Amino acid sequence: MTAPAEKYQQVEIVSRKDYSPDLWSIRVRPEQPLVFKPGQYATLGVPGETRIIERAYSIVSSPLEDEIEFFFELVPHGELTPRLYPLQPGDTILMRRQAKGLFTLDGKTGHRQHYMACTVTGVAPYVSVVRTLAREEEQGRAPDVRIVVLQAASRSWELAYQQELEALARSHSWLTYIPTVSRPWEDPAWRGEVGRVEDVLRKHSDALGLEPSNTTAYVCGHPEMIENAKGILKRRGFTKESIREEIYWVPEKK
Ligand SMILES: Cc1cc2nc3c(=O)[nH]c(=O)nc-3n(C[C@H](O)[C@H](O)[C@H](O)COP(=O)(O)OP(=O)(O)OC[C@H]3O[C@@H](n4cnc5c(N)ncnc54)[C@H](O)[C@@H]3O)c2cc1C
Repeated sequence: MTAPAEKYQQVEIVSRKDYSPDLWSIRVRPEQPLVFKPGQYATLGVPGETRIIERAYSIVSSPLEDEIEFFFELVPHGELTPRLYPLQPGDTILMRRQAKGLFTLDGKTGHRQHYMACTVTGVAPYVSVVRTLAREEEQGRAPDVRIVVLQAASRSWELAYQQELEALARSHSWLTYIPTVSRPWEDPAWRGEVGRVEDVLRKHSDALGLEPSNTTAYVCGHPEMIENAKGILKRRGFTKESIREEIYWVPEKK
């Protein structure tokens, strides 16, 4: 199947980083710049026999970067990720020319504080937001926001971007980064926060003064985490308008 050129561009993978046997990121160089806001997603695909096999992927990089970065989890029985997994620098994939999505920094409520919770690959849109704000600050535009990123994974080696976010949090007072691990018994060297997003969301919201009156909450990634986290946030007083969500997949019906 040939991809229609008006909808897709072919992009070359320029680098790849593996974090664990099923987590990896790539950077691609588009022929034509992709216009997007931090938090939006691109649609990536490969040609199948009768159609393009494609899925949505949050963009990790900032619009201020020349290359575009994505972070993937391999779904062994999935249709696309097993086809993306073997690809290496020099290989190409298809990318829709238009980025999409509404999971961007809330500018409607006037809230200064943004509480961003995620599981594993759900960190992607937050990295884009943080990299963009950090670059803007370097260019002399200090952001008038406070960002708190809570990233959960089973084990610490699945916390991709941990080092980058920790370094950025050290050098930018508007950023707080909290990594948490839910299977510490499989990760004896881990000294940080322990528990799933659901277990520690309320605690950090209370401790950091992330009040519903001045905070927008974001939840991204695992559908079950999103449902549970929304329940916790609502009980904490967050209204529907102050909770934004990006659900990465719909669980298969059993
Ligand atoms: C807006 C948006 C942004 C997204 N961003 C990212 C991203 O940055 N990185 C990323 O890796 N994925 C992201 N996803 C998910 C991505 O679009 C695909 O769904 C995922 O990569 C699986 O694709 P697949 O074709 O391999 O599996 P599919 O053939 O689509 O899935 C097979 C079955 O596996 C289940 N499934 C799908 N994904 C997972 C998973 N991660 N864990 C467990 N079960 C799963 C589903 O129930 C599905 O029915 C995003 C999704 C959306 C909607």
